[in-house]
Amino acid sequence: MVIKKGIGVSPGVAIAEALVLDSGQYKIRRKYIHPEQVEGELERLDRAIESAQEEVSDFVEQQKRDNPEIHRIIETHLAFLQDEEIRSGLVSGVKEHGFTPEYAVSRVMGRYIKVFENMQDGIFSTRFSDLHDVEKRLLKHLLGGKEREDLSGITETRVIVARDLTPTQTAALDTSMVAGFATEVGGQTSHTAIVAKSLGIPAVVGIGKLVKDVSVGDLLIIDGTEGVVLINPDEDEVDRYREKSRSFGIYEEIVTKDSALPAVSTDGTPFTVLGNIEFPWEIKNLVKGHADGVGLFRTEFLYLDSLARATSEEAHYEIYSNMVSAVLGQVVTIRTLDLGSDKSPPDFGVGMEANPALGCRSLRFSFVREDLFVTQLRAILRASVNKNVKLMFPLVTSVAELRRARGILSRTMDELRKEGIPFNEDIPVGIMVEVPSAVLIADSLAKEVDFFSIGSNDLIQYALAVDRVNERVAHLYEPAHPAILRLLKMTIDAAAKAEIEVSLCGEMATDPKLAVLLVGLGLTRFSVTPGDIPELKKVLRSVAIVDAKKVAEAALTLATAEEVLNHLKAEVPGLLPRAPY
Ligand code: PEP
Ligand code: MG
Repeated sequence: MVIKKGIGVSPGVAIAEALVLDSGQYKIRRKYIHPEQVEGELERLDRAIESAQEEVSDFVEQQKRDNPEIHRIIETHLAFLQDEEIRSGLVSGVKEHGFTPEYAVSRVMGRYIKVFENMQDGIFSTRFSDLHDVEKRLLKHLLGGKEREDLSGITETRVIVARDLTPTQTAALDTSMVAGFATEVGGQTSHTAIVAKSLGIPAVVGIGKLVKDVSVGDLLIIDGTEGVVLINPDEDEVDRYREKSRSFGIYEEIVTKDSALPAVSTDGTPFTVLGNIEFPWEIKNLVKGHADGVGLFRTEFLYLDSLARATSEEAHYEIYSNMVSAVLGQVVTIRTLDLGSDKSPPDFGVGMEANPALGCRSLRFSFVREDLFVTQLRAILRASVNKNVKLMFPLVTSVAELRRARGILSRTMDELRKEGIPFNEDIPVGIMVEVPSAVLIADSLAKEVDFFSIGSNDLIQYALAVDRVNERVAHLYEPAHPAILRLLKMTIDAAAKAEIEVSLCGEMATDPKLAVLLVGLGLTRFSVTPGDIPELKKVLRSVAIVDAKKVAEAALTLATAEEVLNHLKAEVPGLLPRAPY
């Protein structure tokens, strides 16, 4: 048995066989065949192409029903597999040059990938990642497909082991077949963590070396609460974790059952608990958790890996208005594109940046690609006709930036008016407060917006200079740092003074003791991943505002994160529901 430690980002226990995803390339060395092997090797190549085509065709059919966007992407993979020019390149690699089919595939596909990579045009430049997929699929069939698998077509429940999971991979997941995630990289707020939480499956990220240590079929235990992964555990360990899993299930059931109850503090203050959504299908989890609406729709996930495919105004409008209908009269907060940095497809056309978190991301990217921005604003405005849509700009760092975004919004409204298209003239416009500069000028910003939503995930990253997805510095990513407490207080106070609404939509509120601290700092409005709603509601129902205030006041006097955490651990447990196990 091997035990690995990582960061537990989604609680619970999973016990299942591993499915290892190799996100890297297959390393194919140049190898030659004897002339008498040519015929046999050509047959092997043909069989691999055929099997790959069959596999993709089946997947195309399945996705046509379940996921039209993925379907369109996969259809292009089929076109590549059927392309005559690619095929004759592969055949000539084997026949004329005497390469093994594996090397012919890697060489020919590599050339196409280079050509597409160098294209400036948005649509074509995105195709190289599709070619990568096709190359990996062909190699998988040539190499027997046993060692490394991909996510399509899992037929039994598996724990997914990978270096990291890309948004396309998670979007294509058959979620009913995934018991848990274990990844080499990532931190509390990385994409894999957020997806695992929204799916309600255990996950451990930031483990370091893992992919090479696990083989397909190894039995794995993932303890997402403790951040531990056990590879090939003995029977006693399996029994112990089965018991843990059972008690966690019971705890979850109790918490979920109570989720329909309103969240009101023991001394009578009502809370609003909203949900964070990445993919439109998550809305059903949010309804199940009895959320009060959508506090953050991360719309960039409509673009990731599908630039120019899911970006039409109609596509956006349809998604937004469906969401509005799904939550019937509740608020839907739509954040404009927050692309870049941790939410960046490699092929998005921004180019390589030395510091992507400080680069052309988010609102800055929307200014560069005003065409995409305006398309999205039009769709949001059209969906706002029902009055319960709010619009939110990410990563605002100055009043000038906010004014520029609002200027584009006004011009877009003018356009719609001229075209006679109805929308809510008074649509509430807010900003994410997620960089320290925004906190320091929160009083000025508050005069020009209707609401603040504190993005603690990024606020912590930028204030403490700690990359939120880098496991090497994950121990420094400290929500209880006194600097963070002060930044939060400044933002909440500025909103209160200006009499505008303030909420928090980062992961911070999902830690019960920090949630109590946030209540004490003055927050009554939260937005969290749907799976976290029941527990947060339970915590909020357990506290009295007066007690939480005392806890926060004392916390603000402390000098280190450790002191703050010790203080919270000493003061808060009496107020909280029972821990998972
Ligand atoms: C945040 O930064 O806290 C946030 C909620 O946004 P995201 O995690 O999408 O950056
Ligand atoms: Mg953010």
